[in-house]
Amino acid sequence: AKGQRQGGYARYHPRMHEQLAERVQLEADLHRAVEHQQLRVVYQPLVDMSTGGVTGVEALVRWHHPQRGVIAPVTFIPLAEATGLIDAIGAHVLREACQQVSTWRAEVPGAETMRLSVNLSAHQLDHPGLLADVVAVLDETGLPATSLVLEITESALIDQHDAALQTLHALRALGIRLAIDDFGTGYSSLSYLHRLPVDILKIDKSFVDRLSHTGDASLVDAILGMAATLGLTTVAEGIEHAHQRHALAAQGCATGQGYHFSPPVDASEVPDLITTALGA
Ligand code: C2E
Ligand code: CA
Ligand code: CA
Ligand code: CA
Repeated sequence: AKGQRQGGYARYHPRMHEQLAERVQLEADLHRAVEHQQLRVVYQPLVDMSTGGVTGVEALVRWHHPQRGVIAPVTFIPLAEATGLIDAIGAHVLREACQQVSTWRAEVPGAETMRLSVNLSAHQLDHPGLLADVVAVLDETGLPATSLVLEITESALIDQHDAALQTLHALRALGIRLAIDDFGTGYSSLSYLHRLPVDILKIDKSFVDRLSHTGDASLVDAILGMAATLGLTTVAEGIEHAHQRHALAAQGCATGQGYHFSPPVDASEVPDLITTALGA
């Protein structure tokens, strides 16, 4: 009878049942992943577009699942945000990456001024302990606050209330730089942007892609103009081709990131990249 019931259930809601079971399993696994250190950090260089030199790295998390292999953030970050596990994951990534970059700065020739960018989710920004955690990590690892960039997506920034905004102001008062990630995808107005305590706009890959598909530079031009008006520096994301790099550099975007220069790499590969002109 049990088998029949399950068969009947599967007949009526096969996909829903599967997806729910999958989600529950993934959530249980993710709890374990945080405890058992299955989360690793990879690093993607940020590059001075005129020289190809590495100015910093962005920390990006990967989940090394014991059965499924490496799982990309798109699969588990939304779940981590919905369950609140992102606070623990984010704290782990921040600590590990600050420690790593601090070590490179001390030990690798050419890495002395290297910066670190770490992604911050809206949920973390709401977490009352965030500021104290960040201060503690900088203190323990010796990474100067002025060498840390925290990236927050434009959509996450848009509906922040006063407490989160105060946290952003406090982080910035420490000397930490704030970047708006995926800029151009969240419809924020110029007047709203003007009130945010940010330093850097990261131009979303979709605008960089348009440079290839249509040869249309007008949107990128508009974003760079907006950034200049607001006194912000810019980073272009997802640069895959030399012509995109050159178009962006010609329009005044000084820093780039993307497969054209380097994909995200294991920590062990970063020291070699520091002394190489990337995208040559
Ligand atoms: P993001 O912050 O916009 O990061 C850039 C993503 O684009 C990364 O994907 C990177 O591997 C990919 N990418 C870089 N260059 C290129 C390129 O030239 N072409 C293409 N097609 N892709 C490129 P990844 O590592 O899969 O991360 C996806 C997103 O997951 C990130 O987007 C970020 O929003 C989130 N994420 C990753 N790590 C963390 C983390 O530690 N904390 C939080 N809160 N979010 C994270
Ligand atoms: Ca980012
Ligand atoms: Ca981005
Ligand atoms: Ca993105």
